[in-house]
Amino acid sequence: MPEAAYVASLGRFEGVVMRAACFTESGKPLEIQDVPDPDPGPGEIVLAVKGCGICGSDLHVTELGAAIPHGTVMGHEFAGEIVAVGTDATGPDGPWREGDRVCTMPGISCGTCQRCVNGDVMGCANLRMTGFGDIGGGYAEYALGGDRMTFRLPDNLSSSDGAMVEPLAVGLHAVDRSGLRNGEDVLIVGAGPVGLACSVWAKILGAREVVVSDFSAHRREMALAYGATAAIDPANDELGSEYQRITGRPPMLAFECVGRPDVVHALSLIADRGARILSAGMCMARDHFMPLVFGTKELSMQFVSYYTHQNYQLTVDMLAAERIDPLPMITDRITLDALPVAFEALRKPSTECKVVVQPLV
Ligand SMILES: [Zn+2]
Ligand SMILES: [Zn+2]
Repeated sequence: MPEAAYVASLGRFEGVVMRAACFTESGKPLEIQDVPDPDPGPGEIVLAVKGCGICGSDLHVTELGAAIPHGTVMGHEFAGEIVAVGTDATGPDGPWREGDRVCTMPGISCGTCQRCVNGDVMGCANLRMTGFGDIGGGYAEYALGGDRMTFRLPDNLSSSDGAMVEPLAVGLHAVDRSGLRNGEDVLIVGAGPVGLACSVWAKILGAREVVVSDFSAHRREMALAYGATAAIDPANDELGSEYQRITGRPPMLAFECVGRPDVVHALSLIADRGARILSAGMCMARDHFMPLVFGTKELSMQFVSYYTHQNYQLTVDMLAAERIDPLPMITDRITLDALPVAFEALRKPSTECKVVVQPLV
């Protein structure tokens, strides 16, 4: 197996392939294959992937049949070291250089449309998505990034742990969009990576009680390390009454971080009049709720996905300031070769939180 190498005199990778975990068809494990290395175009960088988180949405899209094309290299939560720089690829503090340790947002946006100008780069109408078909993702030795969507990692964050910026930014975006007010109590249902990220940011951004509900004792414990002030086991305690016992009133702000049907409906039943329900779990099945419940209580509903450029930068800053410790969330680190088996194992309930693939360490 040839080692992929960047040939500086040629300005590109030459005559080599890289190893990547490729999606073939649903029902089959990912396959480790030799595929062409990415070549950086203008304004692009290539990074050696040191860490890439396995995301629940990757598990879901591979169950949905034709949701992604054959041969897709998934992985949208990655960080590493720059090994090739396209022309005019410039970061916030000058041109990107080989050896720079970075994380990159999972897509390359146009940079000129109104949404890009506002920082809503993942909403760019011309976005090329990373890890879902347009551009190969981080389940590979090398991956492409856009220069303006790439962020320098602080010294206290390893290139592998830089993979945690993405899932944490998801939580920041959700809490930001929820309009959380200072001193407000929140309920978070689901303590997977999304729920934990919402929990830690809710606390940082001024929530009073952060009550997290999850069936798993391990995850409830994790939530208490990530900003939660109380954790509820819904198998033992009725969620609505237990929340009310803790905070003194029914939920006025609730986050759905489970990604399965019926959770929004259940939250609407226990919510207080005028409450906001924010859905961050990205349920990929048809869900239902009863407009009568939303109507009589005048509930509002918000859906979110991804993050803004500003969310990503603030996440990097808070990790640099050690306001968030990403390490407890990482429950396993695996090689690229181990990914296909580990990926299938995550389809079943487990105590894993974030499993980080390390294609090149
Ligand atoms: Zn993800
Ligand atoms: Zn744009």
